[in-house]
Amino acid sequence: MHLLRIGGIACYMWYRWEIKRALALLLAACLALCLLVATLRGCRLACQREKRQDDESLLVYLHAEGRVVSMAMDAYLYGVVGGEMPASFPLEALKAQAVAARTYTVRRMAALGGKPCGRGGADVCTDSACCQSYKSPEALAERWGSEAKRNADKLKEAVAATHGVIAIYEGEPIEALYHSTAGDRTEDAQNVFAAALPYLVGVESPGEQDAVHYTDEARLGRRAFVKAVNKKWPKAKLKESKLESQVKVLSRFESGQVETLRLGGAQTTGKELRKLLDLKSANFAFDFSAKEVVITTHGYGHGVGMSQYGARAMALEGEDYEAILKHYYTGIELAQMEELQ
Ligand SMILES: [Zn+2]
Repeated sequence: MHLLRIGGIACYMWYRWEIKRALALLLAACLALCLLVATLRGCRLACQREKRQDDESLLVYLHAEGRVVSMAMDAYLYGVVGGEMPASFPLEALKAQAVAARTYTVRRMAALGGKPCGRGGADVCTDSACCQSYKSPEALAERWGSEAKRNADKLKEAVAATHGVIAIYEGEPIEALYHSTAGDRTEDAQNVFAAALPYLVGVESPGEQDAVHYTDEARLGRRAFVKAVNKKWPKAKLKESKLESQVKVLSRFESGQVETLRLGGAQTTGKELRKLLDLKSANFAFDFSAKEVVITTHGYGHGVGMSQYGARAMALEGEDYEAILKHYYTGIELAQMEELQ
């Protein structure tokens, strides 16, 4: 009886030891696999970085596909210009867009001392909310239909004719911000973003009247407006019947964008209300009907840097891409990318 019990305990202990050993082996296998995956990924990125130094290429994170690819700069810019500006725009406007996009990209390339966007370990991504919009040549051809060949040739020319050209300020590539439509005057960077930049100051932007969103209207039911505002700013305490006296624009910047406004018991900025209601711009005015709040916007986008419709207007007036860029980015010069290295 006693011997049997000792035998049982020994069996039990052996069994437990075997389980521990199996678990340890499993853990070790998992660690080895993780290490292998990390090493392979590191190698792949390193190989891509090496390759890019040979052919002036960059790493692009394809947002929709969730993967990183290496692309030659001008091939990437073809997709950015096509994604960011209608191909029907004049060639000089497309060239200005190519230079602005190249400059923006250079500032994010690790190999050139820039600050990468970092998604997937890449220099830039194709998410327009983070970096710049990008459309593949196939997607653009499909969008253009019967105009595909003509537009592709035009875009290729815009990129090739400005090969290597970037905008610089005091020897450094600029933060080349751009937007669709300024609404007659662009905005100082410090009024929209935290930092002021000497070349991102407001300038006149005439000739934008043909822009798709030169003026626009956002219509909300009184109830929906009150609900959205009170949820975001509980101090507002808006009432459907009192909006005419509770909602008031207090100040505007020179561009016309709303600086501050009063919403009942709350005070906020035009930028914040634009974000909350997804308005086309922060240059807006209110109108109230019996059931609706009508918000008329002027311009489309943040309003800082180059206005794409303003660039179009200048090009139609016969200005070249250099004049367009120097108008929207105050005090800049154009230079070749190689001069940075
Ligand atoms: Zn990004």
